[in-house]
Amino acid sequence: MHPYIGRFAPSPTGPLHFGSLVAALGSYLQARAHQGRWLLRIEDIDPPREAPGATSAILKTLEAYGFEWDGAVTYQSQRHALYEEALSQLRDKNRLYTCNCSRKMIVAVTPDQPQRYPGTCRNRNLLRTQSMALRLRTEDASLSFNDPVQGAIAHNIYREDGDFILFRRDGFYAYVLAVSVDDMQQGITEVVRGNDLLGATARQIYLIQQLDGTAPGYAHLPVACNAAGEKLSKQTGAIPLPLTQPVRQLCQALSFLGHAPPPELNQAGLDEFWNWAIRNWQLKRVPEKAISTASLSV
Ligand SMILES: [Zn+2]
Repeated sequence: MHPYIGRFAPSPTGPLHFGSLVAALGSYLQARAHQGRWLLRIEDIDPPREAPGATSAILKTLEAYGFEWDGAVTYQSQRHALYEEALSQLRDKNRLYTCNCSRKMIVAVTPDQPQRYPGTCRNRNLLRTQSMALRLRTEDASLSFNDPVQGAIAHNIYREDGDFILFRRDGFYAYVLAVSVDDMQQGITEVVRGNDLLGATARQIYLIQQLDGTAPGYAHLPVACNAAGEKLSKQTGAIPLPLTQPVRQLCQALSFLGHAPPPELNQAGLDEFWNWAIRNWQLKRVPEKAISTASLSV
């Protein structure tokens, strides 16, 4: 039996909001209900999108809500050597190639499938210079996995995404590279996160396989939306989590995840909330999609 290792991995693009709380809570309860470890990783690999002070605000909020992470917080900005090592492993296997296509050029080639890279640079053997991306050579094969919340998922990366980017033209590591290397290197056994990332999961599993690693399991939680049906995010103006009355917010997040905390738990202390939540947590109760957010005062 492998011990359970879960994680929460926010990007420091802004303060945590109700949507982030749902992901933090689901991953935390799933780890604690399995007597597992819960790691905290700050995904700071995209400096242009990051907000000053966001990391310390995130840590402060998690502490105020009573989340207890195991070990030291890891920062992707300090792990570039690992990402470089993964790139060189793939380069040695002749799985990487250089691409200088712009988004506009890609859309112009296949306007009917703008999300897929058509492989323009696959056999061009471009020398790597500045403003060049690195892409992974993919194979035409179907990849499937079973998500305990979303069900069976099948995906053909070559046909649906094409050769995808691991290093960006603007000089930053792609999210898919950093997150896959970290999950693999930290021995994560199950990733529990919002289903806005479901579309990225097949690429992560595929990449971990190409790096000779074992992919974790993946469970995707419903995503909280605002009244206009947009995913809660900094861009859609989500309200930062208040530092007062954390238990009320936690109870709402737990209800959102299909559980029914007794009303009196709203008035309880943090210890009492966490005791109840860990004891009663069941992933199978989590709905595939958000049932309704209308009743949520977020
Ligand atoms: Zn290209």
